[in-house]
Amino acid sequence: MICKHLNQIEDVTPSAKGCEDCLKTGGWWVHLRMCMTCGHMGCCDSSPNKHATKHFHATKHPVMRSMEPGEDWGWCYVDQMELDFSKR
Ligand SMILES: [Zn+2]
Ligand SMILES: [Zn+2]
Ligand SMILES: [Zn+2]
Repeated sequence: MICKHLNQIEDVTPSAKGCEDCLKTGGWWVHLRMCMTCGHMGCCDSSPNKHATKHFHATKHPVMRSMEPGEDWGWCYVDQMELDFSKR
C-alpha cells in the first residue's frame, strides 16, 4: 500500500517551539508532532490533549511527522500508515 497524500506535504517550518495549542492553554505534552501541510505543531496521542490528532480532524491535513530529536518517521491519518522521512 502506498500513501497517496504525499503530494499534500509542503516545505513547512514549525509553527511554535512546542505544542501550539498547549502553549496557549498552559497545557503539557509528551511528544511533538508537526503537520506536514501547514507546519502546525501539536502533541501526540500520549499527551492529555492530543492536539495533533485534533488538528487532523479539524483541518483534514493528512500527514504529520515526529519532531522528537533523532526521529524521522511520519504518520498518515487517512491511511493509518507509518511513513519514512529519513531521506527528506
Ligand atoms: Zn495517506
Ligand atoms: Zn497539545
Ligand atoms: Zn495542518
